[in-house]
Amino acid sequence: MEKAEEIILRGLPISRGIGIGLPLFFSSTDDDIPEISISQSGIEAEVQRYRKALALSRQDVERLQQLSLNDGPPEIVNILGAHLEMLQDPMMTTVIEEKIRLICKNPETIVLKVIDEYKKRFRNIKDGFFQERIRDIIDVSRRVLGHLRPTQAMKLCSVPNNSIILAHDLVPSDTVEATAAQVGAFVTASGGITSHAAIIARAKGIPYVAHVDIKLFKWFDRGRVIVDGTQGIVIVNPTAETLKKYQALKKGQLQNFRLMQNATHLNGETIDGYQVRIFANLEGPNDIDYAIKHGASGVGLLRTEYLLFPRKRFPTEAEQAAIYRKMAKRLEGRPLVIRTYDIGGDKKFEFDPASADAHYFTAIGDEPNPALGCRAIRFLLRFPNLMDAQIRAILRASQYGDVHLLIPMVSDISELRQVRARVAKLSLEMSRKGIKVVRSIPIGCMIEVPSSALLCDAMAKEADFLSVGTNDLVQYVLAADRNNVLTSNIYSPAHPSILRLIRMIVASASRFKKPLLLCGESAADPVMIPLFLGLGIRDFSVASRNIPIVKHIIRKWRILDACQLAEQALEYSCADDLKRFLEERVSSFNG
Ligand code: PEP
Ligand code: MG
Repeated sequence: MEKAEEIILRGLPISRGIGIGLPLFFSSTDDDIPEISISQSGIEAEVQRYRKALALSRQDVERLQQLSLNDGPPEIVNILGAHLEMLQDPMMTTVIEEKIRLICKNPETIVLKVIDEYKKRFRNIKDGFFQERIRDIIDVSRRVLGHLRPTQAMKLCSVPNNSIILAHDLVPSDTVEATAAQVGAFVTASGGITSHAAIIARAKGIPYVAHVDIKLFKWFDRGRVIVDGTQGIVIVNPTAETLKKYQALKKGQLQNFRLMQNATHLNGETIDGYQVRIFANLEGPNDIDYAIKHGASGVGLLRTEYLLFPRKRFPTEAEQAAIYRKMAKRLEGRPLVIRTYDIGGDKKFEFDPASADAHYFTAIGDEPNPALGCRAIRFLLRFPNLMDAQIRAILRASQYGDVHLLIPMVSDISELRQVRARVAKLSLEMSRKGIKVVRSIPIGCMIEVPSSALLCDAMAKEADFLSVGTNDLVQYVLAADRNNVLTSNIYSPAHPSILRLIRMIVASASRFKKPLLLCGESAADPVMIPLFLGLGIRDFSVASRNIPIVKHIIRKWRILDACQLAEQALEYSCADDLKRFLEERVSSFNG
């Protein structure tokens, strides 16, 4: 019989790495649910059945949370915490029970109706944040459905090894149950880079490609499939040659991964002895042990806006102070860079409409262009009470460690001056009240919009340190939304304009002898690391899981070679040419 032709499908790369295995359609527990009417006498039994499913779901989440707390990536702990809250929310408890009694249908039907209502209600809100909340609700509901109809539930923890999971979409519980041994890769029809399922897949090191037409697989032979999560490619019916090439690549990646894990306790040091510090980007206090375990030099970016995530309101000054203090103490003198709230843009947070904080959000309303709107420091300056509470909490924690304050999305030097004046005033007030604070807490600016990049000399002169946020810098310089699949071909940190800006920023920081940190996702990109090194970056801040990778790459380079690479890269004016050059030149060094 003639061998089927090799087919290459392209999608959105979500999680790096290579998966090779047999495809498996992943069906969810909300498929084919029968609608059953129940008599009045049977209602209590059905309510009890629902309560039991809810209790078992809570136990599941608590068990997973416990497992993750001991050994898992912090992202997972935070997401599961939110799920536990949802399982205790009246929407999942009293509302559903009332509906079972009122509509007299089986709990499965009622749960499904609730999911549908949510989907309909939020269908027209395209915002990534709301879409992610809906996915969380669906996720939690599916878990309950799984306990209501245990024979139907398909679990990723019980699929054959190296399965290539094909799904319309994934929710966090799916990915949280998956292990890298069993799931070779994920391929989905929808889903985005910042989805929770994506965060977990990356944290677990499972390759993932989204936006692939998975219906096509119905027509293909059920032969081996290769998923290249780095390039965003899915290869069906690979030729023997392609298979051999990818098997070798996968083996190399596994060896590299083991080597990298060994790098955890080594210094970030180039072959010729230059010291590079690698800090952790954290979303909350739970993550700190994980960061230290991965050899972090400190916390280079604490995204405090995520403190709203489980609370649905701003944490109080006392709550914040307790969190920052605990983190500062745990770091034992290593730096803790606390970034003030970066609210707005794509970072929308669900808030409790009954909380006193709701007015902050309603005052801003639906902006026509949120990425260019009242985001980050603009938001805080509009609400001085909120800003003062956060500054005071940071100042309170300052005596317990090397605490820095970082301002996001600075677009004008006046924003830095206003924050500095506020810090001075509040710290004086606090000292007068007998509260111990560090007088000169370092205040830094994030360089992530073109105006601050172009004014980097002024920023470097007045700020105590700078932090380049490439995630946003690339978005704003290239006018390409960081979350939009349609602009993902334009959105690239390896763009000549970005390199030139970083060179300028490094020069300004060095002229005014101010520390400079690079903290976007690209700081962990093996192709970009040597280039940044060559451009003069010596402090990187990345997700904890990536710290060993960055160390491993740094330890393979000489500064001289990295500088030469950067010089040559700066000659390019076309992004595609530059990308090709970097991939060729860098891969031979990185190994
Ligand atoms: C950045 O923009 O690069 C950054 C680190 O901040 P965030 O991803 O939180 O916007
Ligand atoms: Mg940013």
